[in-house]
Amino acid sequence: MFENITSYILFQAQHRPDALFAKDNDVVISFSEAIVKINQIAATFVRNGYVKGDRIGILGKNGNELLLLILAASSLGIVSVPMNYRLTESELTYIIDDAGCKAIFFDAEFECLLNAFESTQFANVCLDNNSIANVGFTDWIYASESRSLPILNLENDVFIQLYTSGTTGKPKGVLLTHGGFIANCLQTNLAHGVTTQANSRLLMVAPNFHAVGLSGALWALMFGAGLIIHKDFDPKVVAHSIAVDKVNSLAVVPVMLQLILSLPNIEETDFSSLALILYGGSPMAASLLQKSMAVFNCKFAQGYGQTEATTALTILSPEAHELAAAGQSKLLRSGGKAVISTALKIIDSYGNDCPIGKAGEVVAKGPQIMKGYWQREDATKETIVDGWLRTGDIGELDEHGYLYIKDRLKDMIISGGENIYPAEVESVLLAHTDIFDCAVVGVEDKKWGEVPVAFVVTKPGLNELKINEYVREKLAGYKVPKKYRFVSQLPRNPSGKILKRELRLTLHGENS
Ligand code: ATP
Repeated sequence: MFENITSYILFQAQHRPDALFAKDNDVVISFSEAIVKINQIAATFVRNGYVKGDRIGILGKNGNELLLLILAASSLGIVSVPMNYRLTESELTYIIDDAGCKAIFFDAEFECLLNAFESTQFANVCLDNNSIANVGFTDWIYASESRSLPILNLENDVFIQLYTSGTTGKPKGVLLTHGGFIANCLQTNLAHGVTTQANSRLLMVAPNFHAVGLSGALWALMFGAGLIIHKDFDPKVVAHSIAVDKVNSLAVVPVMLQLILSLPNIEETDFSSLALILYGGSPMAASLLQKSMAVFNCKFAQGYGQTEATTALTILSPEAHELAAAGQSKLLRSGGKAVISTALKIIDSYGNDCPIGKAGEVVAKGPQIMKGYWQREDATKETIVDGWLRTGDIGELDEHGYLYIKDRLKDMIISGGENIYPAEVESVLLAHTDIFDCAVVGVEDKKWGEVPVAFVVTKPGLNELKINEYVREKLAGYKVPKKYRFVSQLPRNPSGKILKRELRLTLHGENS
C-alpha cells in the first residue's frame, strides 16, 4: 500500500490528469504534465548512473522544479537532502560531506556557495537555468525519454534526509522513510478531518528544507490538491494570494499568522476561500490563535511534532478549536491528541511513567518516527530508547488524552528550585496589546541559580514598570522576568523559531 510517495502522484495523474499540480509564479502545471516531467527526470538520473540510496543535495527556494526533482529522485529510491540556504559555506560543506551528496541542485542565487559543492561526483545542476558555470536543469534533463515510472516498493527505504538545525552540536541527518512520510500524511488528514479535496489549493510558503513546508506540500499533492507556491514569505503577498488564487488551505508556522494579522486593514481582505489553516512547529500563543480564528474565519488544526517524527505526533482538531471558542479555553493551549497509531507517554527524569497531569518528557512511538540519524548510531540510541522517541519536550497529558507542551527541556529555567516554562511567560506577555513579540530566556543568577529575562518588541512608550505591573497580576512572582530588553525584532530561523541561543549569548556574563 505504501509503495513510495511518487506513486500517489501517479495515481492522482491517472484519476485527474488536468487538475492543478502546482502554480509557481505564472507557470502552471497539471498532474499529467508533472508526471511527464518526473518520468524524464527519473530517466536522466538512471542514464547518469545514479542508483538507489544515492544522496542529492538541494539548495533552492520552493518551486515547481524542486518538487518534481524530489519526486523523480524518490521514485528511484534516491534520497533528497534539502538544505537551508541561509547557512554559511562551511555549514553547507559539513552537510554535503556528511550526507555524501553525489550532486547539488541549486538556485543560481546560491551559486556563490559553490566551493561548498566541491566534493560532489556528478555534475551540479542549476534549477532555475541561470548559471553560466554549471549545466541548467532544462538542458540536464533527457527530454525525449517517455518510459513509465517504475513502481518500487520503498516503504522502509529512506525518502528524505532532513538536517536538524544543530542547536546542540553538529547538525544530524534525520532519516525519514517513504512509509513513515506517507503514514504521517494520512495520520494528519484523519485527525483534522477536513478532506483535502482533489482540486483544492494549498499555499506552500514554509521552506522546503523544513518538515512543515515539505510535508504540507506533499500531503496536499498526495490527496490530489494543487499547490500555490511562494518562494519567500511576504505577509502582504500571501494575504493577496489567498484572495486572488482562491487558496483553500495553509500549512504555516505561528509567526506567519502573526505577521499576516499585523498588516493594516487585514479584516477587509477576502479570506472566504479558506477552509483550513494547519499550523504548528512552534508554540502558539492563545491570544494569537483567538485573533486568527476571528479574522480568517475558517477551520483550524494544530500539529505538534518534530523532524524526528516526520512532522506530527498530535493534532488539535477543528472540533477542539470550536470547543475552545465556545468556552473551553484551556484547549487553546493544547497541542491536541495523538494521531492514529501513535502512542504518547510522559516520563520523569528516571524514565518512569508520569501520572495524568504531571509534567515530564514527552516520548512517542509510531510509524512516522525516523529510522534514525544518518551514520550517528550513538545519537540514535540516545534519542530512540526501547522504540520510544525522546522528544526533548516537556509536556503533560490530561484525562482526555490532550497533550499540553510546556517547553523544550533545554529552554526550561530552574529558579530557586522552581521550574519556569518560558512559553508560559511569553504567552502572558503576548496577550498584552502593546507587546508585539517576545522571548524569555534564563540567565545565571548568584542567588537563584537562574532567573528569567524577557526580550520584548513593544509599542513605543511601554516601559519595564508598566509591563511588570501587568505580569505580576497574572504570574507567580518567581516567573516574572527580572529584566526586560527592548528590541526592534527577534532573531528567528527560517521556520519561525526564535533563536534563543543567540539571545542567551547577548546576555552572557551579565550579572542580573
Ligand atoms: P533542532 O531540533 O535542531 O533544535 P528545530 O527546533 O528547528 O531544530 P524541529 O524538529 O523543527 O527542530 O522542531 C521541533 C520542536 O518544535 C518540538 O520538539 C517542539 O519543541 C516545538 N514544537 C513543534 N510543534 C509545536 C507545537 N504545536 N507547540 C509547541 N511547540 C512545538
